[in-house]
Amino acid sequence: MDSEKPDLVRAFRSNYRWDGVSCQPYKEDGSAPFKDISRQVLFHEPDMGCELRYFEMDAGGHSTLERHEHAHAVMILRGNGTCLLGDTVRPVRTFDLISIPAWTWHQLRANAGEPMGFLCMVNQQRDRPQLPTAEQLASMKANSAVAEFLAG
Ligand code: MN
Repeated sequence: MDSEKPDLVRAFRSNYRWDGVSCQPYKEDGSAPFKDISRQVLFHEPDMGCELRYFEMDAGGHSTLERHEHAHAVMILRGNGTCLLGDTVRPVRTFDLISIPAWTWHQLRANAGEPMGFLCMVNQQRDRPQLPTAEQLASMKANSAVAEFLAG
């Protein structure tokens, strides 16, 4: 095989890992807005405007609570959990599809007993996510369902 060319077919190994895809665990510090989550970039093609990532959270882990101008298209690939979308909290399970519109606060949380993984399609060119200010967070928590969700 010509080593100059990227592999067009990359095999699934096992346990949500693929040949030629590195797994990047997010670093955690005391103020981390995410918990127990890793990221794998599955597709980042020069000829396409989007990319596809696979994120996985350990049991009880969660993604960053954030919002931004770019949208996400998400499919749960593994496990079950809960999704915050704006002021709505919804249970989600394997193969559910989630559309995250522009400027919508969002976070995914894995259930306590099992890891949860999801595919996330996103524009390659995109703005940086915003994290909520203390004031915005307080405003979100005025909704009891959201407050309960954020408390884990
Ligand atoms: Mn996001």
